[in-house]
Amino acid sequence: MDSERVDLHTHSHHSDGVLAPAQLVALAQQRGIRLLALTDHDTTAGCAEAAGACAVHGIRFLPGTELTTQWRGREIHVVGLGVDPTEPGLVAHLADMAQRRQRRLAEICTRLGRAGLDGAAVVAAVGAAKPVPTRTDLARELVRRGLAADLGAAFKRWLGPGRPGHAPFDWPELGLTVARITAAGGHAVLAHPHHYKFSNGALRELCTAFRAAGGSGLEVSMAGMGPNDQSRAAALARRSGLAGSMGSDFHEPGLPWRPLGRFVKLPEGIVPMTERLGLS
Ligand code: AMP
Ligand code: MN
Ligand code: MN
Ligand code: MN
Repeated sequence: MDSERVDLHTHSHHSDGVLAPAQLVALAQQRGIRLLALTDHDTTAGCAEAAGACAVHGIRFLPGTELTTQWRGREIHVVGLGVDPTEPGLVAHLADMAQRRQRRLAEICTRLGRAGLDGAAVVAAVGAAKPVPTRTDLARELVRRGLAADLGAAFKRWLGPGRPGHAPFDWPELGLTVARITAAGGHAVLAHPHHYKFSNGALRELCTAFRAAGGSGLEVSMAGMGPNDQSRAAALARRSGLAGSMGSDFHEPGLPWRPLGRFVKLPEGIVPMTERLGLS
């Protein structure tokens, strides 16, 4: 399949995107996308709606999720593609992630309370609206309350490292998360390697550990990746035997740096993720 008509990393309002799954699919249709995965953070709640809308538009759909994990104490994201959202192990994993995210929301709001904010009101507003809350939902609530001008400012002032609302995370280990994805019939893809502040050596070790755990692909073509980022990712994929995945990490139409279905082409010599999924 032509990689320019594929997007394997997108978000809806079930996590920190703004569009409903059906709206996301309508936009995908406008952009000429033929194969779409919905990969909300730690939830598959939007997949049934997206699958229905894709069937109407004749778009091939892959149920997915972007799972938050840790490796060597650092946060790492793993995209699961083609998972069965009803598989009991995955269902249990996602229920646990929802609890972890609700606990983290409460912890962040306790800390915001110590900084003089109405933490109880913020936790109630965000936690009730979102079963699987993200920090973006919190940031939006802070903007709504006039406590930050925009999302970036909310992270900078309140939620980022060293700020009053920063809380330590407690995510499952990478290997366990990859095993959950494969047991649910999915393929695991290591997300956005250019986002991690790792040395080249540590990134190589991460990819080796990921492959050994059963990982299948690495994001090599993404919106927001420069030529250097891409050649580094391609070298990692070749070295560790991972296929090259492609996606926008789309969150909202207002963010021009992550446009749905638009990203650099896959370099030569990289096995496309679509081939590994049996879809090319
Ligand atoms: P979480 O997974 O709940 O920690 O939320 C992380 C999400 O927040 C990421 O997926 C990004 O979409 C968003 N995010 C992280 N840092 C920033 C930032 N500085 N500005 C805007 N959005 C951010
Ligand atoms: Mn996000
Ligand atoms: Mn991510
Ligand atoms: Mn993402």
